[in-house]
Amino acid sequence: MKKSYRCKKLETTLHFLPKQIKFCCSCAEGPYFEIANFNQTDKKTIEKAKSKFIKKLASGKIPKECIGCIDYKETPPKTLLEKLFIKPKEQKIQHIIVDHFKQCDCNCIYCSQKIIHKRNLPQYNILPIIQQLYKQDMIDRDNLLIEFQGGNVSMLEEFGGIIEECLKNQCQNFKILTNGIKYLPELEKIKDNNSSVSVSLDCGTRETFAKIKNIDAFDAVIANLNRIKENTNLSIELKYIIIKDVNDNIEEVKSFLNTAKTLIRNRAVIFDIDYRDIMINRSNNFKVPANYYEIMEFVQQYSKENFINYNMPDFAKSVMAKGNNQI
Ligand code: SF4
Ligand code: SF4
Repeated sequence: MKKSYRCKKLETTLHFLPKQIKFCCSCAEGPYFEIANFNQTDKKTIEKAKSKFIKKLASGKIPKECIGCIDYKETPPKTLLEKLFIKPKEQKIQHIIVDHFKQCDCNCIYCSQKIIHKRNLPQYNILPIIQQLYKQDMIDRDNLLIEFQGGNVSMLEEFGGIIEECLKNQCQNFKILTNGIKYLPELEKIKDNNSSVSVSLDCGTRETFAKIKNIDAFDAVIANLNRIKENTNLSIELKYIIIKDVNDNIEEVKSFLNTAKTLIRNRAVIFDIDYRDIMINRSNNFKVPANYYEIMEFVQQYSKENFINYNMPDFAKSVMAKGNNQI
């Protein structure tokens, strides 16, 4: 029998990029459409662009933009009744990713945004698009997750407006990436505790912070994280990206974990590996330095003794597991 596929992310995601709207959050290229005219980001245009890919998957063909992705799944072909009455467009938007702005008030040595987007000002506004999507009943009000990537949200003029619009329409599920240098009073309006703020601190000392971020703002970030803890219900996720010859030592990691212990209610931290090593140097077969294993052993032991939950993204885990071999 002929195969048929579906991808839930494709049906329910809108990922706003500087010049495109992508229909998923995958690391693969992913289907997208170029935004030539922002008056065209209406229900009809979005559904037309998206349904092309939905139909292709349903007919058993994998769009070239999805090759290599693990998110599409085989499904039984649709019955005649489903074909007639259940249109893909009835899948409402459940995940909006705000990622069309690349401005930031720091300058991390590993920042991909400055390489890829050169920090241009946003070419369009998202708030009117979100307002229109709500008006046209395209958003699943009970299940929307709105995620801010970027750039740094403190530099996004529409940030407060987008939060307000979504709160007004019952959304209480926000995921906000920030460098933490400026306090965001808008966070206090989010009452639900499903929402989170994620900060890549990458160190436990002022000196190392300045080396990595090219700005002397460690104390400001810690003060702001304390304010978030005191004034909001948001969970805080602290991240540590291991960077070769910069923060790859146990003293720094210990200092970071001590900070995390006092700052985070749920004591959840993420360890990752500098993407420049594992992505950009992919063809050079990144060899995991021996001290990375010592660091992770220390993290494991220290976390156990201090009731800290640590994790690593799957890709970083697989790189660590392959060690000195090819990735
Ligand atoms: S299959 Fe993967 S790349 Fe394609 S739409 Fe789904 S998540 Fe995106
Ligand atoms: S905080 Fe994020 S966007 Fe800003 S410089 Fe660092 S990595 Fe880039």
